[in-house]
Amino acid sequence: MVDFDTYCIDRKNPTPSEIFLYLEEVDSCCPKCGTPFSRTKDSKFVKGYEIAHVFPNSPTPVEKTILQNVRIAGTNSEDPLNKIALCHDCHKYYDDNKSVELYDEMFDLKATKHKALEAKKLISNQNIESELTQIISKLASLSDLEIDGLKKLEYKALKVSDKIEETYILMRRRIESNVLQYFTFIRQEFANLPLDSFRFDTMALNIKHAYCTLRDKGLDKSEIYKQMTNWFERKTACDVEACSIMVSFFVQDCEIYEELP
Ligand SMILES: [Zn+2]
Repeated sequence: MVDFDTYCIDRKNPTPSEIFLYLEEVDSCCPKCGTPFSRTKDSKFVKGYEIAHVFPNSPTPVEKTILQNVRIAGTNSEDPLNKIALCHDCHKYYDDNKSVELYDEMFDLKATKHKALEAKKLISNQNIESELTQIISKLASLSDLEIDGLKKLEYKALKVSDKIEETYILMRRRIESNVLQYFTFIRQEFANLPLDSFRFDTMALNIKHAYCTLRDKGLDKSEIYKQMTNWFERKTACDVEACSIMVSFFVQDCEIYEELP
């Protein structure tokens, strides 16, 4: 049961660095309707966001009844874990139409966004080998003719469905397609690298370490795939599709995801 007297404290304006955190969490777009926060009006930039309380800072008597048994985040209502950036319209709708369903949805949205940002930060300092960049870059520039000539993996060698359940069926199909098409090529490219300057097992351990960091942070498989792809993209500045093909390679190669029980 929520203890309103201790949780709901005086309103505190967010500091500039807290605002930066809230905007970063939602990629500077309203997480409810997708509206970008940077807007122009009469050729001037205007602020398109507001910082909303997930659990109200000063609940009305009706809200106190509705929300008496919900989950709360942080130590009090002014904790950054209880605030989220929204556009003006979504903020107003949320404040004017409180229900347990809407509250739970907002609570989960904030928790997911916050967790994903925390996870992104945890792996962002981890560098990746320049050889990996070279191969991703090569993937991005393969012509149709070259792709036709690649040796493909046999279907029966696929291990992806041993690790990804039906819940993620679209992602699984995409990874399987990437693996069938490119796995043999990528493995050969790694094998062609000079042993004195590159160790596949050391690199694979780095990838595994990044995966475990995201998994232990509680991200689901689809969010892990997205974060790993974005990590490769940020570190290599290569095409995002080529980065996702490389992530798929590591799924098949067992650095990402464990076998299902
Ligand atoms: Zn909105």
